[in-house]
Amino acid sequence: MEELIKKAGALIANSRHGIALTGAGISVESGIPDFRSAGGLWSKYDPMEYATIEAFRANPAKVWNMLRDMESLVVNAKPNPAHYAMARLEELGVLKCVITQNIDNLHQAGGSRNVIEYHGNASTLSCIRCGRRYTREEKANEEIPTCVCKMILKPDVVFFGEPIPVFAMQRSFQLAASSDLLLIVGTSAVVSPANTIPTVAKQGGAKIIEVNLEATHLTTSITDVFLQGKAGEIMPALVKVVEDLIKT
Ligand code: NAD
Repeated sequence: MEELIKKAGALIANSRHGIALTGAGISVESGIPDFRSAGGLWSKYDPMEYATIEAFRANPAKVWNMLRDMESLVVNAKPNPAHYAMARLEELGVLKCVITQNIDNLHQAGGSRNVIEYHGNASTLSCIRCGRRYTREEKANEEIPTCVCKMILKPDVVFFGEPIPVFAMQRSFQLAASSDLLLIVGTSAVVSPANTIPTVAKQGGAKIIEVNLEATHLTTSITDVFLQGKAGEIMPALVKVVEDLIKT
């Protein structure tokens, strides 16, 4: 593993246009379960039953039960060493941006400044009828957050079946196409269209580094260096190697 981390660190230190793609796995060590963890939130709520826009439109009050449970985890979560490591890579000038599928705001809390939220952010809520927007705090005391127009509000996150925000979609693909390195952390890469970003980067000539507890379909197809293990342990080790290489 040490050799693989050195190899990945050298790729990062020598890159000119490195970017990162993260998924739910990077926040697991902050106490927010991913879709695949045994037990926890997603064994109580099937994402396909609760996280689709059809489910929200059909029964928003039911979906808000899941959203409130998820929110209690997100509100109390703090960035972990992997989030801080990602911010440090940006500070060192070797990472231009983080494209995250997460809606938990932990990259920003960890110090990353250039973050594209591919699936939105749970800290604001919007009315799907009149478009009014509220902060999460403004509606924290309402069991089912409701607009002044009486419509139930939806958090500004992308549900399954909804389009990706145009800016996030376009910018991510531009960045991927022009990157020479893509650091992928904690994603199963099964959710579309975010899972096409690695292929776009690879086709543009980027080296692919993947950090995950387990192999994914990317590992054997396009990944150049696979670092298997916890993001909160591997990412700080990777930063250390990059720091040493940049200093010398
Ligand atoms: P996923 O649940 O499909 O996959 C998570 C991946 O992370 C898995 O491959 C798993 O092996 C890996 N992983 C788990 N713990 C890890 C750790 N400690 N270190 C390294 N890797 C680890 O998640 P996804 O690919 O992001 O897709 C699910 C969708 O649901 C995405 O849109 C995602 O952002 C969203 N979601 C977001 C959050 C959040 O905001 N924190 C939480 C759950 C789901």
